[in-house]
Amino acid sequence: MAKQTHLHCSFCGRSRDEVKILIAGQEGHICENCVEHAQEIIHQELDAKTGAEAGPQKLVVRKPAEIKKFLDEYVIGQDDAKKVLSVAVYNHYKRINHKQQADEVEIEKSNIVMVGETGTGKTLLAKSIARMLNVPFAIVDATVFTEAGYVGEDVESMLTRLLQNCNYDVEAAERGIVYVDEIDKIARKGDNPSITRDVSGEGVQQGLLKMLEGTEVLVPPQGGRKHPEQKMIKVDTRNILFICGGAFDGVDKIIARRVNTNAIGFSVNKDEQEMQRKNLLQFINAQDLKSFGLIPELLGRLPVVTHLNPLDAETLKSILSQPKNALLKQYTKLFELEGIALVVDEEVRDFMVSKALEYKLGARGLRSICESILTDAMFELPGSTTRELHITMEYASNMFSKSKLSALKVA
Ligand code: ADP
Repeated sequence: MAKQTHLHCSFCGRSRDEVKILIAGQEGHICENCVEHAQEIIHQELDAKTGAEAGPQKLVVRKPAEIKKFLDEYVIGQDDAKKVLSVAVYNHYKRINHKQQADEVEIEKSNIVMVGETGTGKTLLAKSIARMLNVPFAIVDATVFTEAGYVGEDVESMLTRLLQNCNYDVEAAERGIVYVDEIDKIARKGDNPSITRDVSGEGVQQGLLKMLEGTEVLVPPQGGRKHPEQKMIKVDTRNILFICGGAFDGVDKIIARRVNTNAIGFSVNKDEQEMQRKNLLQFINAQDLKSFGLIPELLGRLPVVTHLNPLDAETLKSILSQPKNALLKQYTKLFELEGIALVVDEEVRDFMVSKALEYKLGARGLRSICESILTDAMFELPGSTTRELHITMEYASNMFSKSKLSALKVA
């Protein structure tokens, strides 16, 4: 008993009754205070060590041709956009990795605008690039932003999304990619600067300017409006790549006017109209986006403009089965996990594509069409003795006509 009273922490010397917990080792003891202290030292040491080993972390950036090859695995077609993106991304990260000398030419950021109908792969392209580089990525919708002081979100909150996606690792976020969707929806109405305040349009564009160019932004960690009591996180946007996307409905007419071609709409043949539209988009430039309603200052910070083509039947069919995580590959895997081999006839694939085109659902619609055809089988087959599921045209059209999708009116 007498021995017990002499117990003390071998590190700080505190006696048993001065501490809450005393852990026994072979030769001595340690108290809870010293454990905590030791833990802190371990963290500091390890952080310093990994920091020193890694140095200022360098991104491994592949050459543009390799970037495009990577994109080819996930995105079908859209060669022009892939090429332009590959170069812009390569240059952007080369600029980050390169330590600039004071007297050197300053390489500016190459933020990007992608113009193309909805569902043509804009988000997919941006997402695939972030996946390849393994940098934080956030998708934000420009329509939720309003000018400071109005109901809605401040533009800074897009960085909140980025921070949340990398567990508030500010350094990682500062080299991430933000995809701003529906940038066309904040276009100012008409080509003239408005006299009245344009809450959702021009004001937001103004708000975006500094952020796109590169500045230190105070970001509310939980998003929403800036609040005086909320502790802000400082994020430097100089090395964040902003990729903006939008459908820019009607921009083809602006391009047509500029390139002095006949305006779309007079052509009787639908296919021909589509061809014209496709051809026109490839001529898009910043001037057209300005006419559409993006302010010149914003366009100046989005120096790379590219376009995506509308998806034709052939492309849609490839999307069904070619990309690395193509829809049919996913369903095949799902059935395979049940021990069932899925076989989808060629004509069924054509049927799916024709329905996606007919209902104007684009690539996004392919998924709902697959679901409508395969849901019954996915419900009934698990646990059964069936080892092969053969989707014939008869089966597919039968299932499709029973589905809610078929009730949709074709516009
Ligand atoms: P957008 O951003 O242009 O509206 P998305 O990139 O979100 O369109 O595309 C929606 C979905 O359609 C994607 O998740 C993808 O499955 C499919 N998709 C669209 N375009 C392509 C394409 N070119 N290649 C492969 N899949 C595509």
